Amino acid sequence: MKVKVLDHPYIQAVLTVLRDRRTGQIEFRKSLVRIGRAIGFEVIKDFETEEVFVETPLNVRARGVRIRGVDRVVIVTVLRAAWPLVEGLIKIFPQARQGIVSARRVEEKGMLAGGRFEIEITYVKLPKIGPEDTVMLVDPMIATGSTMEEVLKLILSRGRARKYLIVSVIATPHAIDRLSRFCSEHGIDLTMYTASIDPELNEDGYIVPGLGDAGDRAFGG
Ligand code: URA
Repeated sequence: MKVKVLDHPYIQAVLTVLRDRRTGQIEFRKSLVRIGRAIGFEVIKDFETEEVFVETPLNVRARGVRIRGVDRVVIVTVLRAAWPLVEGLIKIFPQARQGIVSARRVEEKGMLAGGRFEIEITYVKLPKIGPEDTVMLVDPMIATGSTMEEVLKLILSRGRARKYLIVSVIATPHAIDRLSRFCSEHGIDLTMYTASIDPELNEDGYIVPGLGDAGDRAFGG
């Protein structure tokens, strides 16, 4: 698995607003939209481009660029915290087909051995996924990697894509290890984009320093 930590100053400034405990619900949600759009610009840099020519209103040929593969993107929103992040991403990938997975960590059972959570998936709606597609899995907080692993299993059971991207705001080394193992076991091409890799998880499975519970902060509890 490739991991890209996005050090663009704008992304880091928005991340700082997200981390700040004083940031209220509306600003938090708007900041997720902003960072989603900014991450989208970083993700699209890795798509191939080709030269094209257009004629301008002055009847002159101008050289331009077409981005390949943007019409074969599937964005999967992992409810609910990814919702505002996807709202930003979709500004950069407006043609994307979209799917939804409603997954929750069964926090009542606590963090299990090996730093994982049981994951309950209650709703899935996905477009058809084919070998030309790039599937973008969106979840702002990749803490233990348990949710993402279950979502990936589900996605793989629906057909193989050309490649897979994870778009997140904060990930941990623990989750990156788990997902890297998953990639090797399943032979998939996966790149993770994240604004930060935070060092730790607390005993409740929250990322430290992190930004708290992204869903609660964006949606008011
Ligand atoms: N989900 C969150 O919203 N925050 C964390 O720190 C971990 C999981």
